[in-house]
This record gives sequence, C-alpha cells and structure tokens, in this order.
Amino acid sequence: MLLDEEHLQIRDSVREFVDREIRPIADELDNAEKEIPMPVIGKMAELGYFGLIFPAEYGGMGMDTLSMAIVTEELSRGWLSVGSVMTRMIITGTLIMAHGTDEQKKKFLPKIASGEMLTAAAFTEPDVGSDTASMKLRAPKEDGQYKLYGEKTWCTFANRAHLLTVLARTNPDVQPKHKGLSILLVEKKQGDDFAPPELGGSAIPTIGYKGMKSYSLGFDGYPCPLENLLGVEEGKGFYQLMATYEYARIQTAARAVGTAQASFDAALKYAQERVQFGKTIGEFQVIRHKLAHAATEIEAARQLTYYACEKKDSGARSDLEAGMAKVFAAEMAERVTSEMLQVFGGYGYSREYPAQRFWRDARVFRIFEGTSEIQYEVIAKRLLGGK
Ligand SMILES: Cc1cc2nc3c(=O)[nH]c(=O)nc-3n(C[C@H](O)[C@H](O)[C@H](O)COP(=O)(O)OP(=O)(O)OC[C@H]3O[C@@H](n4cnc5c(N)ncnc54)[C@H](O)[C@@H]3O)c2cc1C
Repeated sequence: MLLDEEHLQIRDSVREFVDREIRPIADELDNAEKEIPMPVIGKMAELGYFGLIFPAEYGGMGMDTLSMAIVTEELSRGWLSVGSVMTRMIITGTLIMAHGTDEQKKKFLPKIASGEMLTAAAFTEPDVGSDTASMKLRAPKEDGQYKLYGEKTWCTFANRAHLLTVLARTNPDVQPKHKGLSILLVEKKQGDDFAPPELGGSAIPTIGYKGMKSYSLGFDGYPCPLENLLGVEEGKGFYQLMATYEYARIQTAARAVGTAQASFDAALKYAQERVQFGKTIGEFQVIRHKLAHAATEIEAARQLTYYACEKKDSGARSDLEAGMAKVFAAEMAERVTSEMLQVFGGYGYSREYPAQRFWRDARVFRIFEGTSEIQYEVIAKRLLGGK
C-alpha cells in the first residue's frame, strides 16, 4: 500500500519532530536509565498525538488507524519508549470511546487528548498474565464506592499516570469467571510515591524500554467512585478489553517496525563507513545481504500493519489482521535488530552505539500486548473456526 499525500505529510511532520527532539537525547537518557523528560511528553500532547484517533467533539483529531500507525512508527524510530507513551492513551481512550457512557466520554477523553490526564493500563497480575479471564484483583462495593484489593504488575507508566485502567473482579461468584470482571477507571495523583497504604508501587528493573518504568502495584482498599465503572455495567470488562485489542496490537506492530527501521538506518550508515580489508564492510556480500534481508522484512511488516489498519478503518472485524501484524512485526524486530547489531561487530555490543538499545528494546515485542504464543492461538482460532 502506498501512502497518500495526507499520510505522507503526517509522516514527515512526526519525522521532523523526532529528528529534532527525540533522537538527540535518546541514547544518553537510555544509557543513564532516565525516563522521558516530562516536557517531551507535553510537546507530544500539544501536537495532538494522544487524541489522534478520538473524535473532534472530544478534543481529538479524528484521524484514522493508519495515521496512528504512521505516527507510532516514527516516534518509535526515535526511541521505543516515546512511541509507547501513546499506547496507554490509545488503550484507555479506545476503551472509553467504544464502551464509555456519554458522561465518561465527556469527562475523560478531552483531558486524555490534551495530556492533562495521562493514563496507564493495569491488567496483568503476578499470578495471571495471558489468562485474562482469571484476573484476581477484587473490587467489592464498600461505603458507596468500589474498593480495590489485590496486586497488579507490569503497570508501565503508573508513576506518571493520573488514571489507571484497571481490570478488576467486581463479582467473585459469577460463572463463567470472565463474566465477573469489570474495567474501572481509577484516578490517582501523579508521582511514584503512590498513596500508601491503600496504593503502593515499586519499579521493576528491566533490560530495556528504559524511558518508561513498569510497576508492581499493591491495592489495599484504594477507592474508585461507582460512576468510574466503564459503561456503568458490571461484568463486561473481559469483552470490552478483547474488543479494543485490535488498536493496541496494530499500534504495537507499528512500534516494532519503527524500532527495526531505526536499527537498519544505523547499520546501513555504519556499513558505508567502516573499513576492513581495505574496503567498506558494505562491499562484502554477506553484509549487503544482511541489509537487503532486513529492509525486505521491515517493509513486509510495515505493509502487513498498513493492511490491518485498512481493514480496521473499513469498519470490518480486524483481530486476525491485527494479530498477524503484531506477531510478524514482533518477531521480525527481534531478528532484524540482532542482525543489525552484528553489522557493528564489537561496537554493536558497546553502549557507545545505539545498536544494542534497539536490540534490547525489540525483545519485549514478543511478550507484551499478548505474547507471540497467544497471538498464534488467536490467529489459529479464527482460521480453524474457534476450535
Ligand atoms: C516491559 C513490559 C511492559 C509491560 N507493560 C504492561 C502494562 O503496561 N500493563 C499490563 O497490564 N501489562 C503489561 N505487561 C505485561 C505483559 O502484557 C505480560 O507479561 C504478558 O501478557 C504475558 O503474561 P505473563 O508475563 O504473566 O506470562 P504468562 O502468561 O505466565 O506466560 C508465560 C509463557 O507461557 C506462554 N503461554 C501462556 N499461556 C499459553 C497458552 N494458552 N498457550 C501457549 N503458550 C502459553 C506465554 O506465551 C509465555 O511464553 C508488560 C510486560 C513487559 C515485559
């Protein structure tokens, strides 16, 4: 698929922002294990990236899924963490757009779009990851509000978020168990001191994705008003989440394409500069073929992502295409970033060059937003008719 003039303009404007604001700081911050500076997040909000696909009446830009993928790819080309800030706003925003009441849309969407309200997704638990239906965190009604009890883990951006999108068990007795889950929009103050003893959090040390921190969270009676139940109907959380996975998976595919493209760009440049045996290494066939293979794989993943966007924008069900794009781009990014690191020889292993950052960052794509193993199950179920 070729991009039209409007989408090319979007791509060029984000590329210009990334070249000016992100690429010059990404390596230093990543090496120092520092988070994305808040002013950068403020600029992204000003540019409208957080409300890109929200309707204009809720402060968004009313753009299509393809625009979201293009913006995401370009931001991730600068630094995966930057491309991933958007993911949180997209997950919470699309959940509210699709399942929220009018009041909830009016209350939350304009603030999310403007960056006044940053969000984080709290689905995974220490004992429950892929098996979403088995989530345990409880949210009984006490004193006219929900009170949350239990643990969440891997809640990325929890420190900076003002709103946690929490999958909680509001009814522990109902069977089948996925019908006891609801999504609660849980407000908190910004900061990593959280609100102990009702809400505590600690950062998880990671090998990559350094610009954002992921947290283990402990809830012990943390409150959430009844009106912040998504769609104000209990027991719908599992279905609501599954229905909005398409956006998150397409967005993750685009993040993988952007990360792989950045590693390819760096390796291509290096191959034209590094001299061994009296020649630039780009003259050795084995290096030329590595580059050719990487470029081909990246383009294939990008086109599959665009196709998933086109399907989504047509209004048709697109979980199959989103799943295919996500799993293919995730596995491609791991292969490509590893091979591009190889082009750098020993320097690829050094913190002086970004090749190792792209490789460390790329490893997460096969894990989050549904592991590759789960993604193949989703695809196989569609192909085999749910068996
Ligand atoms: C850096 C990072 C950031 C993250 N950010 C967030 C976030 O912001 N919010 C959030 O809620 N979560 C987040 N996650 C969590 C992520 O979504 C989970 O790690 C993921 O869903 C897998 O769950 P798990 O780790 O419990 O693995 P498990 O579900 O325990 O899986 C372990 C292994 O078993 C395989 N497996 C499990 N079930 C099956 C099956 N039925 N068939 C075949 N294989 C299976 C898996 O594929 C995997 O290989 C993040 C994770 C990471 C690493």
